[in-house]
Amino acid sequence: MGKLIGIDLGTTKSCAAVYQNGAPVLIPNREGSRMTPSVVVFAGNKRLVGQAAVRQAESQAQRDPGRTVRSIKREMGTSARVRIDGHLYSPPEISAMILRQLREDAEEYLGEPVEAVLTVPAYFTDAQRQATRDAATIAGLTVRQIINEPTAAALAFGVNHEPVSRVMVYDLGGGALDVSVLDVRDKQIKVLATAGNSRLGGDDIDRVFCELLMRRAFAACGRDLSGDPRAVQLLSRAAEKAKIALSSETETKVSVQLPTGGKDFFLFETVVTRQEFEQLIRPLIEMTMEPVRQVLADSHLRPEEIGKVLMVGGCTRIPAVRNSLRLLMGQEPFTGDDPDGCVAAGAALWAAALAGELNGPTLLDVAPLTLGIETMGGVFSPIIPRNTTIPVRKTAVYTTAANFQTSVEIKVYQGERQMTRGNRLLGCFKLTGLKRAPRGMVQIAVTFAIDASGMVQVTARDLATGRTQDIVITAYGNLSRQEVERAVRDAQMYAREDHARKQLAASRDAAEALLGQLGELRRRELPREDRRKLDEAEKRLRRAMKGQDAENIRRAGDLLSDEINRMFYLY
Ligand code: ADP
Ligand code: MG
Repeated sequence: MGKLIGIDLGTTKSCAAVYQNGAPVLIPNREGSRMTPSVVVFAGNKRLVGQAAVRQAESQAQRDPGRTVRSIKREMGTSARVRIDGHLYSPPEISAMILRQLREDAEEYLGEPVEAVLTVPAYFTDAQRQATRDAATIAGLTVRQIINEPTAAALAFGVNHEPVSRVMVYDLGGGALDVSVLDVRDKQIKVLATAGNSRLGGDDIDRVFCELLMRRAFAACGRDLSGDPRAVQLLSRAAEKAKIALSSETETKVSVQLPTGGKDFFLFETVVTRQEFEQLIRPLIEMTMEPVRQVLADSHLRPEEIGKVLMVGGCTRIPAVRNSLRLLMGQEPFTGDDPDGCVAAGAALWAAALAGELNGPTLLDVAPLTLGIETMGGVFSPIIPRNTTIPVRKTAVYTTAANFQTSVEIKVYQGERQMTRGNRLLGCFKLTGLKRAPRGMVQIAVTFAIDASGMVQVTARDLATGRTQDIVITAYGNLSRQEVERAVRDAQMYAREDHARKQLAASRDAAEALLGQLGELRRRELPREDRRKLDEAEKRLRRAMKGQDAENIRRAGDLLSDEINRMFYLY
């Protein structure tokens, strides 16, 4: 097990964070930067990721435009393939290259192996979440949990420490816009509604800004450079730089050496004011307000019913974005110090809670399937029913199944079937040192405790001696929706069959108990005729127990029971 960190695998930029000295810290990558561009470049037989990929992409743009892979997150969970040199890469394979680099950089920085909490957009389907898990597996990264980006962002803002509230998270990144409404109460966070636009973000702002610069360059040098990939590249990079500058300044100077054919260059210089920029991008910003109206409608809330508006994502640094959101929501939105790092920071907080370093946040979560243990004859004994809200703690008392057994094996299962056979074994352990006693005399309390992070601790305690033994299970929640649905469906489908098996196990168990009483009786002086009757009834029961007919066992058991009772009474 390694250090648990948080990773935000973004469409355009990715980021990792770790909880250190009481706060989440963004982990610098190998270039010393907190954000790693989600870009992969195939250069010869080398694969470059992040900033190095961006540099390489710029230098090889003209020769090899097809060898740069960007925004792969949009393709996660689809059957899209990226073809490079005749090789087809799946989206998880490309994402894995980014994740691997993040993992290596984090391990280098922390000096120890890492495991991660990954974030995904709230609207991600099971297939997209699974693809993200697959990417991590390929990258050699153990994922302890996948949480929603808006939830992580809300954690970073500490909203879980507030009593009851509705929180809106507006996340405008490089490639996508996600707007969510969360419900926060009793330290628990739940996504109520989510909407967005997966094709709207900083890249689009850069594109329209680049077009403006292109028009001005045309006017200045008299040449249309829009067909020249090298010029487009230079201008779009200048556009992003100018856009970032205009978030803190009211005007900025753009200065680019543009190729004008052959070896000639033209020094293009222009000043852009924030006002001009805002006017330019106003239609885009207006488009980003649409999902805001949508989530309000979907969650049946008016703007004033939202207790807090959180702004997340690099593009929320643009003052015009804040202004539009403020106008629409009628309140001042909150921004953290790090709008583009706060999802990773929230994931790191969650990771710390999972690792037990922090007790704070809770995601409103439920046990996806029933948890319990195996009892006599393979019967599943549920302790925590499915959909129980966690954290939760429940105890049930069991007894031994055989005479004089001095240990019990506790087998922990998850599932909806009545027989453990159809369920999933999560783990098992032994409680030893029980007092020698007839079956049914020893009492063992089995406690299931699921903490806020979803970790299950199962403890068995011998009530006579106080001896305890336990096991901790971490992977119980790693179920896709399909797995949960299948488990529930199977349980319904096999209910009859399972019920019959359960009855069979129960009748055998009762029969064993009866047979256990025979020893005592046989020590008494019994007339020969009665002894014969007893032997016969016993034989008949043992024969029935070899079969599969619960009713038969029960009948034979009743006969023996009658004999036993009569004889206890007589002798
Ligand atoms: P994602 O989660 O989509 O990968 P981020 O949240 O990291 O993206 O946002 C990246 C976007 O934010 C890029 O388009 C980048 O240019 C933009 N950005 C970063 N800093 C600023 C800034 N100071 N002003 C305006 N835009 C910025
Ligand atoms: Mg993001």
